[in-house]
Amino acid sequence: MSTETGRETLGFQTEVRQLLKLMIHSLYSNKEIFLRELISNASDAADKLRFEALASPDLLGEDTDLKIRIESDKDNNTITVIDNGIGMSRDELVEHLGTIARSGTSEFLQQMTGDQQKDAQLIGQFGVGFYSTFIVADKVVVESRRAGLPADESVRWESDGQGEFTIENIERSERGTAVTLHLKEGELEFVEPLRIENLIRTYSDHIAFPVTLTSATEKDQEPKLVNAATALWTRSRSEIDDDEYKEFYKHLSHDFSDPLTWSHNRVEGKREYTSLLYIPANAPFDLWNRDVPRGLKLYVQRVFIMDDAEQFLPLYLRFVKGVVDSSDLPLNVSRELLQQNPELTAMRNALTRRVLDMLGKMANKAPDDYAKFWGEFGQVLKEGVVEDHGNVDKLAGLLRFSSTHTAGDAQDQSLQDYVERAPKDQDKIYYVLAENHATAAASPHIEGLTDKGIEVLLLTDRIDAWLVDSLREYDGKVLVDVGRAGIELPEGEGKITQEAMDDEHKPLLKKVKKVLKDRVEAVQVSRRLVESPACVVAGESELNPQLRRMLEASGQSLPESKPILEINIKHPLVMRLSAVTDDKRFGEIANIVLDHALLAEGSQLDNPAEYVKRMNALLLELDSNVASG
Ligand code: ADP
Repeated sequence: MSTETGRETLGFQTEVRQLLKLMIHSLYSNKEIFLRELISNASDAADKLRFEALASPDLLGEDTDLKIRIESDKDNNTITVIDNGIGMSRDELVEHLGTIARSGTSEFLQQMTGDQQKDAQLIGQFGVGFYSTFIVADKVVVESRRAGLPADESVRWESDGQGEFTIENIERSERGTAVTLHLKEGELEFVEPLRIENLIRTYSDHIAFPVTLTSATEKDQEPKLVNAATALWTRSRSEIDDDEYKEFYKHLSHDFSDPLTWSHNRVEGKREYTSLLYIPANAPFDLWNRDVPRGLKLYVQRVFIMDDAEQFLPLYLRFVKGVVDSSDLPLNVSRELLQQNPELTAMRNALTRRVLDMLGKMANKAPDDYAKFWGEFGQVLKEGVVEDHGNVDKLAGLLRFSSTHTAGDAQDQSLQDYVERAPKDQDKIYYVLAENHATAAASPHIEGLTDKGIEVLLLTDRIDAWLVDSLREYDGKVLVDVGRAGIELPEGEGKITQEAMDDEHKPLLKKVKKVLKDRVEAVQVSRRLVESPACVVAGESELNPQLRRMLEASGQSLPESKPILEINIKHPLVMRLSAVTDDKRFGEIANIVLDHALLAEGSQLDNPAEYVKRMNALLLELDSNVASG
């Protein structure tokens, strides 16, 4: 390090290096987004300064008009974005423009395929940012002075985006940050004032701060104001077109895909606030990390207060992006104060309903968009049924499932669809829980129902067992697990009682129970099986086996429970079993029947080796039959 200027060369964090490479490659066809990203950063920096200045007005000094300047220089092929916002100290520069702090980044980057279009989509989920400058520049210089620090504690950061950057101390009279792009040979279009002006109008018109443009070759010209310079959400809905809403979303989210839908509202009266809420088209890479910052951007009377104000929406709506601007909250509100604010619960409830209504509207008016939404965020929305009892009815209408009515494994059926298709006198909604779609669709448990043309929901998401437990019913129809003992089928055999049926086959049931007594709770005649010889079901008060497996996997120890074995009395295998007189033989076949029932349901066998031995013995016999026959 040279002592005079503290010049140092540092390496980018590995993840930054990877991201830089990928970004240049995969975002090339969207290369002009760098300008939006720089202006967004500049606007955030101005927002942050204004916020800090609430507590320390000295930070603003004489330089009170927050603004963003863009200078193009045709002689040197540079474009510079300058703000008089919060600025960065030396340490902040190294941290912000040398590392990526988000956890899970390296796993995320490993998913990149090399396919430009797919990767661009993925990077969109990650959020593009400052590094997009290297798509068009072969050298980027950042000069910054943190608000509150003296001129000689300013810093210059410089990099060619190849793996290293240098940092040194400089003197800078102005507060804030200037980012200069030395454009690559082929990217000189971005030095043309007209091109820049167009880009600003398209991408950054709605930024709350003025954006001006000057050209270094036309020195005597006044800086030209290029954008509207009013925050988008403060304007009235009728004046804003869809493209403006979309661009504002991209500014907020650093996502470069369009949002699926949005909702912009002003609430007046006792409580006054404006909200602009967006549903993204793609899940962010860290959707499943429940600790990741989330929530809305909070403004109070147009002054930015905080990012990720998670208090305004429940956790299961963590994918929503947007802004809340309150007229009533105090300007000095902090996360802690916010939590205690009596207004908060009411706002949170109203915003939650707003999001659910927006989703309901999308489901009705744009089912294709809703299907896309469901694919990305459906599992998260399901958490709401478990966590937000007050909104269960609204949420129930938004759920989508796969069912025996679905072609393939898409989750495309609503409970309403089910109810409308079901015969009028069917007062239940049937479902089966399984590890995956194939197991659910082939489950012996549903045979009796599908045979009678009754639809069964096929539930395969981890959260489904909890979901049905919380939901319980829809439109007056009780949700029924077909994997449980004692289910009542709507018609036919349902009229004969279980006892009567069991009585009829008592000797066989008793004999099977005797050989399987350590493995099953009871043996019953099945009314649901058609093609399978047997199935296992959970007792009415037992945990569902799906749920049991999940709880056990998470380390909980549960009291041992044995399933009930149901046998299909009309199945040839069972008929043969009842004809076997040799006890040893009877025991072997009965055990295999149970093993198969467990396997079909997705359970693991307690003693697979034992099963294989039994099966091999049987196959050998078959072989000797063939040989001798
Ligand atoms: P993001 O904006 O998504 O956080 P970036 O890579 O664009 O990611 O920027 C990283 C960080 O660098 C920002 O979060 C911010 O703290 C800092 N930064 C970038 N540009 C500026 C700027 N003009 N003024 C102050 N800080 C900035």
